[in-house]
Amino acid sequence: MKRTSCSACGSPDLETFLDLGDSPIADAYTDTPDEESPRYPLQVAVCGKCRLVQLLEVLPADVLFGTGYSFYSSASAPLSAYHKAYAEDVLADYAGLIERSGVVEVGSNDGDLLQHFKRYRHLGVDPSTGPGFAARDRGCDVTMMPFGLDIAERIRNDRGPMGVVIANHVLAHVEDVSDCLAGIARLMGDEAVAIVEVQYLPDLLVNNAFDLVYHEHRNFFSLTSLEAAAARHGLHVVDAELTDRQGGSIRVTLAKQPAHSVRVITIRRSEEWLNSFGAYEGMQGRADRIRWRLKQLVLEQDAEVVVFGAAAKTTTLLNFCGLTSEHLAYCVDSTPAKQGRHIPGTGIPIKAHAYSKPGTPVFLMGAWNYAETVMRANPGRKWILPIPAPMVVVS
Ligand SMILES: [Zn+2]
Repeated sequence: MKRTSCSACGSPDLETFLDLGDSPIADAYTDTPDEESPRYPLQVAVCGKCRLVQLLEVLPADVLFGTGYSFYSSASAPLSAYHKAYAEDVLADYAGLIERSGVVEVGSNDGDLLQHFKRYRHLGVDPSTGPGFAARDRGCDVTMMPFGLDIAERIRNDRGPMGVVIANHVLAHVEDVSDCLAGIARLMGDEAVAIVEVQYLPDLLVNNAFDLVYHEHRNFFSLTSLEAAAARHGLHVVDAELTDRQGGSIRVTLAKQPAHSVRVITIRRSEEWLNSFGAYEGMQGRADRIRWRLKQLVLEQDAEVVVFGAAAKTTTLLNFCGLTSEHLAYCVDSTPAKQGRHIPGTGIPIKAHAYSKPGTPVFLMGAWNYAETVMRANPGRKWILPIPAPMVVVS
């Protein structure tokens, strides 16, 4: 289904600026190399009214999330470390508020973040049952339902207004931004805060990171567009900070009462360039250029080229660039559930990190957000970095 109005403000003024063609669902890993992956359009538009950047194609949840593969936060060691630090930050500022009124995490996955709040009154909400049961096994209280205004109303009726609501990398994935924010606002008591972290659109634009576009990733926020979306539900941005997760993210604190924040003003001012369509329209040309140059670099290598990291963005990158098992020998990834399967649309097999053929392969960095850590741990290797512009480096 193609979106005809903005997910946050309802405006029909959606201008398409990036078309990555038809691509498979990013984490629908196939069992065999020849298995056909259904492809769906991958086009991105900006709302002329509120500036929310969003996917035009909205796939039904059963198509999108019924792939048999579930993302488990705790499977990634760097992500778990990030969640621990995140929880410490929240508790440093709001332990008293959580003590008094409790905490809800929207999109709590397998409880990797929520577990740090177990000693308080807490609730996780997440529709995926596999990770939901894993969270319960860790002792977290979880409701396995899709989040929105309806479920928020029920939680509030059962438990009363909450002190802190956390939505960590959730808003990017929801079909209806407005309904999700309405639910968050409904859960909040008068003195409550909501802490919302999303990938940061300006970093995607300046890094040419078109591979962050895939069907599960429906919305791309700046502070400006998030602020406008939240304001429609009576929520004010009272603090904001930029973080380095997923190639650049922004963590925003929302409250029912406005408050002066120098950090918010500074980031808001730095985003004025996003008000011009020029901020978006060069993206297509840069993506096309990366496609051409990356394929050339892969074909130039004398050694076998191996993909590092079967991330969702790897699926977009390889499919857009037309790179398949014809060009790339295999992919290494540490997630057991992906091993033995294949990157959608490419036929490229996914192997464990331990797997290696004789000789020294060249690695194409799919998980480029972890490039620094990965390259430091693997000195003396040759790498092709695709983003922000394809280049070859030795670690
Ligand atoms: Zn809008």
